[in-house]
Amino acid sequence: MAKRVFSGFRPTGKQHIGNYLGTIQNCVSLQDEHECIYSVVDIHALTTLESTDSLKQDIYDMVLDWLAAGIDPERSIIFVQSHVPEVEELHTLFGMITPLSWLLRVPTFKEKVRTQPDNVNYGLVGYPVLMTADIALYKGEIVPVGEDQLPHLELAREIVRRFNSAYGTVFPEPQAKLTSSPSVLGLDGVQKMSKSYDNHVDIGASPREILERVMAAVTDPARRYRSDPGHPDICNVFRLHQFFSPARVDEIALECRRAGIGCVDCKKLLAQNIASALEPFREKRAILASKRNYVAEVLAEGDNRAEAIARETMREVKEKMKLLQRLDLERAFGVP
Ligand code: SF4
Repeated sequence: MAKRVFSGFRPTGKQHIGNYLGTIQNCVSLQDEHECIYSVVDIHALTTLESTDSLKQDIYDMVLDWLAAGIDPERSIIFVQSHVPEVEELHTLFGMITPLSWLLRVPTFKEKVRTQPDNVNYGLVGYPVLMTADIALYKGEIVPVGEDQLPHLELAREIVRRFNSAYGTVFPEPQAKLTSSPSVLGLDGVQKMSKSYDNHVDIGASPREILERVMAAVTDPARRYRSDPGHPDICNVFRLHQFFSPARVDEIALECRRAGIGCVDCKKLLAQNIASALEPFREKRAILASKRNYVAEVLAEGDNRAEAIARETMREVKEKMKLLQRLDLERAFGVP
């Protein structure tokens, strides 16, 4: 039987080419071999979000991009974390068996204490427990992660192990699937591509918008004049050509090194190739966006499917923990 994949994503709105090359394509291909559950983890987002004003729109835009990019709601469950409240219940129960010392040593928590000292909320400390509840509630067996998330997954495995040995086995120990997805640098050529650094290109951008963004990209800083030979190996425009112009990278590298091509033409070519690579995506996105309520229907169906799994898991959890359930009251106490 196909192993179950669980993956959660903060609602970040419209997706950019870094998300597309790094995560979305991976999620699409996992569907071929696994039963996949993709969750929009809106509760996690609250640990760092300053305002929830754009949350609804961000969820809509992100899910629409996923669907247009090939995440298939017939094969995968796509749902919103907070719509299945059992996750908070399991989070609380896991909190009872998780030593605080395990949470305080998590590298990302230490980092947040350093970077946002005025907002070290409980949610940040409990983040790995909630993440464990996310995975365990749906009995996720495989979790695609980048190397930086390995400590979280190891903690999730420890919590699950602790529960299984204290109360009896309910949960599989989730296995990390290290993603080989490339980490895509932003147009500034320094930071990872991200909306917060404003160095991104949205996958739904029009060809004109793509051209405007790419023309502002940083190239080889040593190449000041058109006649200067360039260094493609340190140029981020060239790195993006490797994804979007694979058949022409050797030629571009050669022409750049002998100043046969200028940065303006090189960027125009990149913008053109990004726009044509994303054209099928843009077309599908427009069709899906024109279907009234499509995203809402996909999420409602996903919420129902996720909730059915969650309820069954919680029934097992409470039974193992010998927690009295409402239906047991009459049997236990003879309530009329
Ligand atoms: Fe970069 Fe292209 Fe300019 Fe060379 S020609 S430095 S690869 S933008």
